[in-house]
Amino acid sequence: PSGTATGTGRGAGGGPGTVAHPGENPADGARPGTRDLLRLLRGSGRTVGAALALTVAGTALGLLQPLLTMRLIDRVSADRAVAALVVTLAALFLVQAALEAAGQYLLDVTGESVVRRLRRGLVERLLFVRLRELDGRRAGDLLSRVGTDTTMLRDMVAGSFVQLVTVTITGVGAAGLMLWIDPVMFLVVAGTLLVAAVLVAGVMAGIRTSTEQALAGVGAMTADLERALGGIRTVRAARAEHREAERIGADVDAAYTAGVRSAKLGSVVGPAMEIAVNGSFLLVLLVGAVRVSDGSMSVSELVAFLLFATYLVMPLAGLFNALSLIQRGLGSLRRIEDVLCLPVEQDPQDGAPVPLPTPAASPAASPPPPLLELRRVSFAYDDRPVLRDVSFSVPRTGLIALVGRSGAGKTTIVSLAEKFHEPDGGHVLFDGADVRGVDPRDLRARIGLVEQHAPLLYGTLRDNLVYAKPEANEREIREVLRMVNLEELVERLANGLEAEVGDRGFNLSGGERQRVAIARALLARPELVLLDEPTSQLDPINERELTDVLRDISQERALLVVAHRMSTVRAADRIVVLDEGRVGAEGTHEQLLAEDPFYRRLTTDHLTPPLGRPAPD
Ligand code: ADP
Ligand code: MG
Repeated sequence: PSGTATGTGRGAGGGPGTVAHPGENPADGARPGTRDLLRLLRGSGRTVGAALALTVAGTALGLLQPLLTMRLIDRVSADRAVAALVVTLAALFLVQAALEAAGQYLLDVTGESVVRRLRRGLVERLLFVRLRELDGRRAGDLLSRVGTDTTMLRDMVAGSFVQLVTVTITGVGAAGLMLWIDPVMFLVVAGTLLVAAVLVAGVMAGIRTSTEQALAGVGAMTADLERALGGIRTVRAARAEHREAERIGADVDAAYTAGVRSAKLGSVVGPAMEIAVNGSFLLVLLVGAVRVSDGSMSVSELVAFLLFATYLVMPLAGLFNALSLIQRGLGSLRRIEDVLCLPVEQDPQDGAPVPLPTPAASPAASPPPPLLELRRVSFAYDDRPVLRDVSFSVPRTGLIALVGRSGAGKTTIVSLAEKFHEPDGGHVLFDGADVRGVDPRDLRARIGLVEQHAPLLYGTLRDNLVYAKPEANEREIREVLRMVNLEELVERLANGLEAEVGDRGFNLSGGERQRVAIARALLARPELVLLDEPTSQLDPINERELTDVLRDISQERALLVVAHRMSTVRAADRIVVLDEGRVGAEGTHEQLLAEDPFYRRLTTDHLTPPLGRPAPD
């Protein structure tokens, strides 16, 4: 058999480098090859080597069987004792089975450890990846790479290597021995084999295509279902259940159709193999009978031949199966490496991250710099300019409000301050230090963030509160709960702080959720608190109370609040007006009302007026 030797020769070694290593990956679109597959086995080299040795030994022992059988027949026809040979044969079977089982076990374990290593690598990469990379990717798709694609690789490692090794050794060994016994007969077997190979190859190609289609169907189903369940309330409200069920059902149907097709093709493989086995058996028998009768071959040689012929044909299906597993594995590996190559936030290639100067390290002399400063910052999402030449600063204490129409770039400014994104032009300075090149975790340790759509994480209310400061004590927790007016809620809950807030936090109202997020940010007592429309879901009473709290806090800390409520805006020491990505004006509420027509329009059109006072006309 030709072509089976590829891949096995490089089996045990594994190349240098791990799959997770950034520098050397085919992120530029090159397809991963067998070499990359073998790289997966790095670290498992010894186990794989042992597994292959066991398999090789088992398979080689298998090749002895026809030879021993030949011997047995010769002895029987010569009327000599055969007991010892029978025992040897039985022992051979047992040892062979044990060797193969052990080899398979080792490979299964290797497969599992490959999956574990890849999954851990993927999880870590996804948690550290540069945030820009996650924009526009579907979570469902990323999840399936961690779940399904890694499993594909496990099956490949556990399944294909044994088959390739077995087929190669059996093929080469059996062919050699057959050639040695009778070259003419070998040609007969090789001919049948070729026909069978072509047949099976065609069928397997069809099966592979169908399997891929089935997998694509399942992928689409997962992604669609995930989105529908994520927005289940919207689905229900739009009475779109049937439509969604139909659409997702179509994905299911596609998988079904492909599955049935592959079942049809698969049902052909078995009989085709039977035909090939029996056909070659018959041919060998016929041609062999002639050759035995004219004396060019003995009966025992014929029997050995018959056994070898089945040995050769049987693993053929296994070979194609192994090849298709490898092919699918390559596809999965590509999808996995795609994620593993995503740039992380702190790329080692950019040089070691500079620690942010600590407060104590800043020179005490001269007036301290503003805590946060944007200097002529410009920023674009994929060539779509959002911020242009934005400059303003946030002093060490006080409440700065950032206002502007929806889409003006307010949340983007918050993202730049947190170093979720890097500015395209200009500088973001924290405590006088340019944050470019600074370790983002250092920076974030000194900033608290309340996101615009503040999420709750899994776990209890307490877990959520102490998320940024796990070591917070009971007194500190009570204090922030009082600040954000959540004490009452905690008392109402049966389990108090230990109440599970649910996967998506649906058992808290929007306002409660926001207040939990604010408490979470305040608990760590950061120097700067960024709040992105923190009161959008609060009722006016709560909102005014919270504004008072923010004012209090701003006596000793810096607060930057993206605000769209008048009461928060009026409480601000200074207001930065953002107009289509530029700072339009800056000042106090009164100054801006008097001087800035854009701000006046903003207050009437976009800012929610305080309770009991209608918007001025
Ligand atoms: P604001 O918070 O003031 O409402 P944002 O800063 O969220 O505005 O967004 C500013 C502009 O950038 C909007 O037009 C928005 O569509 C766009 N934008 C925001 N986030 C992204 C993103 N991740 N990718 C591409 N465009 C974005
Ligand atoms: Mg926003």
